[in-house]
Amino acid sequence: MSLDELVTDGKRQMQVCNACRYCEGYCAVWRAIEWRREFSDKDMAYLANLCHDCRECVFACPFTTPHEFGINPPKLFSGLREELYRRYAWPSGLAKALAGNKSTFWVVSVISFILLLAVVMGTNGTAGLLNHHTGTGAFYKVLSEMFLEITFGALGIWFVGGWVIGAARYWNDLKSRTSARVLPRDVRRATSYALQLRYLGKESQEENFSISRKWFHHAVFYGFLLDFASTSLAAIYSHVLHVQAPYPVYNPVVLLGIVGGVGILIGASGLLYTKSKSGSANSGGKDNSSGKAFSVSLLLVAVTGMLVLLFRDTSAMGVILTVHLSTVASLFFTAPYSKFVHFVYRYLALVRYAQEERAAEEAANKPRVTPAAVKLRGKISKRNEI
Ligand code: SF4
Ligand code: SF4
Repeated sequence: MSLDELVTDGKRQMQVCNACRYCEGYCAVWRAIEWRREFSDKDMAYLANLCHDCRECVFACPFTTPHEFGINPPKLFSGLREELYRRYAWPSGLAKALAGNKSTFWVVSVISFILLLAVVMGTNGTAGLLNHHTGTGAFYKVLSEMFLEITFGALGIWFVGGWVIGAARYWNDLKSRTSARVLPRDVRRATSYALQLRYLGKESQEENFSISRKWFHHAVFYGFLLDFASTSLAAIYSHVLHVQAPYPVYNPVVLLGIVGGVGILIGASGLLYTKSKSGSANSGGKDNSSGKAFSVSLLLVAVTGMLVLLFRDTSAMGVILTVHLSTVASLFFTAPYSKFVHFVYRYLALVRYAQEERAAEEAANKPRVTPAAVKLRGKISKRNEI
């Protein structure tokens, strides 16, 4: 389905759900639709990123196919997300070519590998690739420190810049329906929801699918954060303390990297396993396959990173390091167009949700002036005049 068709069908499904409301409390989507009487195109972009594909609702729903209503929120929202990644990503032409394509990561990895191999051979020859390098600065005998810093610095700017542009476009759509301001406490609440992966942990009616996904998501999320901390610490060691890699196994850089890598290995494999077990009937369609591609790409980065650690004192290190850096380069290059970007849009949707939730709480706590109270107040003021 095209984006327009998905949006039209989404509005129809949300009207049915708003009348039914059986799934109230399952996730943030259900409260967000309760606060609306009608749905705009931009509301659909908002709701799509509030859904995290737990599939609670579709397991409970009596109106899924073969019922004529054909209700299936996770499938609808995953299709929408996939189209929205293309719509908000920058540059648009590249986004159309790369987003939603399962083989993008592999193609970019192979191209990166060929390019990196050419640089290794061009600068250090076969000795750089195949010799046994040990001691401080061993990695830089394969690819120079300056080359690595410029290349991966540029890729970092590319993916963070891509995320920032996509986030600005998405936020522009989210805030266009309201004049209410976002307060710091809305951001705090949204951050707490994001860190706890709230709504992802309810017991599912089918095989504890949802609760497993919560733990695997946690493992990937916190594993990635630990690996990011390890890389940042390595930069401090290298540029501030002037101590070059590789570091001993007990060094915090390596320890953080190992724990983070193991987290990603467990989380990404677990997510692939739960996806394969959950079957296709209720699956999220296109987004589900790009989710699988993303899990595989994380898994490859983690596995090759672990292999670098295991074989860093052997002559295989040069080849393994080149393969690992190719997977990292591909992950960075495709980050604005892959499922990776969901984390940015979901966080912004949660900020908007926290803002709406606060507004709803304030409205509920506001003292109500009923017609009877107005009448009584009139009577009292008349009596006072007499
Ligand atoms: S998903 Fe089905 S059961 Fe849940 S609110 Fe919508 S129509 Fe009702
Ligand atoms: S699949 Fe889960 S997160 Fe998505 S709308 Fe249904 S209950 Fe909410």
